Amino acid sequence: MTYESPWMSDDLRMFRKTARQFIQEKFVPNHARWCHQHRPDPEAWTQAGETGILLADVPEEYGGGGTFAHEAIVIEELAQAGVNFGSGVHSIVAHYILSYGTKEQKSKWLPAMSRGELIGAIAMTEPSAGSDLQGIKTVAKRDGDSYVISGSKTFITNGALGNLVCVAVKTDPKAVGLKGMSLIVVETKDLAGYRVGRSIEKVGRHAQDTCELFFDDVRVPASHILGPTEGKGFSQMMEQLPYERLAISVGAIATAEQAIAITAQYVKERMAFGKPLLEFQNTRFKLAECKTEAHIGRVFVDNCIERFLAGKLDPVTAAMAKYWVTDCEFRVIDECVQLHGGYGYMAEYPIARMWADSRVERIYAGTNEIMKEVIGWSL
Ligand SMILES: Cc1cc2nc3c(=O)[nH]c(=O)nc-3n(C[C@H](O)[C@H](O)[C@H](O)COP(=O)(O)OP(=O)(O)OC[C@H]3O[C@@H](n4cnc5c(N)ncnc54)[C@H](O)[C@@H]3O)c2cc1C
Repeated sequence: MTYESPWMSDDLRMFRKTARQFIQEKFVPNHARWCHQHRPDPEAWTQAGETGILLADVPEEYGGGGTFAHEAIVIEELAQAGVNFGSGVHSIVAHYILSYGTKEQKSKWLPAMSRGELIGAIAMTEPSAGSDLQGIKTVAKRDGDSYVISGSKTFITNGALGNLVCVAVKTDPKAVGLKGMSLIVVETKDLAGYRVGRSIEKVGRHAQDTCELFFDDVRVPASHILGPTEGKGFSQMMEQLPYERLAISVGAIATAEQAIAITAQYVKERMAFGKPLLEFQNTRFKLAECKTEAHIGRVFVDNCIERFLAGKLDPVTAAMAKYWVTDCEFRVIDECVQLHGGYGYMAEYPIARMWADSRVERIYAGTNEIMKEVIGWSL
């Protein structure tokens, strides 16, 4: 069965070749060490920038020049290589700046982000506010030409290396519900009052740096708000979440496909009762189910990519993709672990790492329960 995504082109095939070669040569050999140190090397970011795989889908004048299809290829190649690298989050930050930034903000931050000199992080979650963002307590008080930010954030991807953090704050703590929320971009280098906490020990995705961030009366220029005015933060997040949720679906389906490929190979080689595992009907049936589910997911994700490229991906469909595809990914990988027997539980086996790495996809960027709420409201 040969299937190729309908959005593929010669240009994109060339781009995939470049991305794959770079990831295999520069990331894969270092990944075990990154896992150990809980973050990639900082140079990995500038090397990725030089290769052209960062912010591929922002306009050329800001260092990109491609479309979301280019971004999807980078996500797929990272997923297939099993590399945890926070370029997806980096792109999400760039798209907030691209969509709501002034000309000055875009020119100042986006080209440096595309070179990997500035590394983006997005800081919404707090210890007492994850799904329910109304509960955030971080405040930004206007003081002359500055905002003074106080509070803390947790579970922030690219937290340690990130030096351009898009922070969700309350600019009007008295406003009801989500109305007083704004997004402020913080340049963290040598910033008084800003502190990165410990790297949080996770079950998987060990190479992706995930940290707590502390803001102790941090003063930033008032011009760093993504506006044009205060109080737009929640609607900006709602508008951008389809991008994030689609990106996660793209990585999830590529990981499921890779898990099936690895497992199909394994069951041809592993012998039991005098024959390869593939010769047991249960093995073939389980892999047949996995392949079918992954293909359904692939076709849906491709359809979402096409809709996104046409400017027509709505938040409900993006939520459907995020929920169904990440659930599908985990079902598939769990079956693949089972087919590996005890070796599927050994950390040195890629399938075991995929299992641990993929679990979080059903939790972050809005839990799958919240996705079902979003879909449910549309009914
Ligand atoms: C590895 C990792 C990386 C992350 N990276 C980032 C990042 O870069 N930036 C960032 O801001 N955040 C990040 N997060 C945070 C992530 O987005 C939150 O963990 C997620 O939104 C869930 O919030 P919570 O953990 O507070 O869970 P809670 O909101 O406490 O949810 C607990 C459970 O209750 C359920 N629940 C909550 N509300 C409802 C409801 N209304 N209906 C039904 N069920 C509900 C949830 O679905 C879940 O099952 C990351 C998290 C992880 C684990």
